[in-house]
Amino acid sequence: MIDFFKGFGVTFSTMFKKVVTEQYPEEKKPTEPRFHGRHVLNRHPDGLEKCIGCELCAWACPADAIYVEGADNTEGERFSPGERYGRVYQINYLRCIFCGLCIEACPTRSLTMSHEYELSSDSREAMIFTKDMLMAPLPDGAKPTPHTDAEVVARGLTYYPGPAAQKAAATKAAPPPPAAATWRSRSRSAPTPSSRPAKPAGSGTGTWSRPSGSDATARGSWPA
Ligand code: SF4
Ligand code: SF4
Repeated sequence: MIDFFKGFGVTFSTMFKKVVTEQYPEEKKPTEPRFHGRHVLNRHPDGLEKCIGCELCAWACPADAIYVEGADNTEGERFSPGERYGRVYQINYLRCIFCGLCIEACPTRSLTMSHEYELSSDSREAMIFTKDMLMAPLPDGAKPTPHTDAEVVARGLTYYPGPAAQKAAATKAAPPPPAAATWRSRSRSAPTPSSRPAKPAGSGTGTWSRPSGSDATARGSWPA
């Protein structure tokens, strides 16, 4: 009998507590800032894709949930800055455990995770998200891929081979400052080409030579 009244006591006290039931899906609560949701393949501001098809995300994935096939950009069809782009990109959300290792591995910050968590489906096929499903929307004023190299150059972009690399190349190509040049000429007593003894044919380390003709794609050889 005492237990009976104890039970009613619990019910009665609960009636005056604040209701914690969430009205999902009518009312969605914001996620935590670092929540790992559905992936996004990001773009540059001009619409080019950040993914370079390197497959590092696929290698990093412990659940083998990512499939990537890279391909070469061409002069007339450029999808990303640089040489390669992700031609095929798929994430299998039946395998993904949302650990985020793939986004850590991505060298271009192409792959990031959104806050979207509504990923259920009654079809196995629908849970394999393809590249067009994962691509971020085009930024305002951007053009969908592919672009041509001429368009990119006309926009004044310096993707090729990238701003940092271009800066480094410019520094490398610049002549040494006069003081350094003078020091070098004083410190080195390198023989001039005319005073250098001629190398016997076929000897020494020589230079790499590309095979010609039909064998042009084969590996070259160092002279013996
Ligand atoms: S979040 Fe983790 S499990 Fe999911 S695709 Fe990325 S690496 Fe794989
Ligand atoms: S998403 Fe990133 S890591 Fe994955 S293939 Fe593209 S560039 Fe490489």
